[in-house]
Amino acid sequence: MFRLGEHVKRLFDSCKIYRREIPFSTQDFQEAILETIRVNQLEHCYIRPLILCGTGSLGLNPLEAPTECFILVWEWGRYLGEESVEQGVDVCVSSWNRAAPNTFPSMAKVGGNYINSILIKMEAVTSGFAEGVALDGQGLISEGSGENIFLVHNEKLYTPSLGNAILPGITRDSVITLAKERGYEVLEQSLPREMLYLADEIFLAGTAAEVSPIRSVDHIVVGDGKRGPITTQIQQDFFDYIEGKVEDRHSWMTPVYKEQRVQSS
Ligand code: PMP
Repeated sequence: MFRLGEHVKRLFDSCKIYRREIPFSTQDFQEAILETIRVNQLEHCYIRPLILCGTGSLGLNPLEAPTECFILVWEWGRYLGEESVEQGVDVCVSSWNRAAPNTFPSMAKVGGNYINSILIKMEAVTSGFAEGVALDGQGLISEGSGENIFLVHNEKLYTPSLGNAILPGITRDSVITLAKERGYEVLEQSLPREMLYLADEIFLAGTAAEVSPIRSVDHIVVGDGKRGPITTQIQQDFFDYIEGKVEDRHSWMTPVYKEQRVQSS
């Protein structure tokens, strides 16, 4: 499984922001995730660990409420559609913005933030798009409803910074690492909306969406409307890594079953 430790760490970090103590160590939590996959005998699955404030007062102070943990695992096809990874998807810029600074912490992966994601996604889907891209509170590019975004312009990669109301995606971090290994410059910075219309290539990155090319934004074709060469290369590197086809040079892989081997040096 891919970058389990980082996923669990982000969960614990999210709880830290919300002052919620977790009565387990990160190691125990990781082992519980692996065990849940094993007892369900799944080979490919999506995992959604949830940490909740349990029963307590109906007031707004959750500090006394007990912590409850759930681990959901299930098989899931391609999040943005079967063809998305090769053909790319059509997206729109959402009329809903991401949360303004100092309102809802974007760096936390918490259920409450997904109310905003749901609005973005429903608007996109009812308008005939696969996904919506949100701008931040200042009108700069932020991210998709459940993915980070990368733009390729003049052979450089651009992605919004942590200051643009994004969730710091683990796939985003993996893409940055893999792209730099290929010698590309990757710039994490504020980006104006119009870069979406001028980029040579654009792709989404997330655990569910994996690396999915965008072929149009607001009906404006990106590049030549097909998966571009840099997206293709990064996507290949990403899939080779998560499928265990290359050496696990960053120690990103955790074996789930005893007989499973991760390729290591
Ligand atoms: N942004 C948002 C809002 C998300 O929900 C996700 C999916 N967890 C991502 C970005 C991508 O994060 P990751 O690569 O860690 O899945």
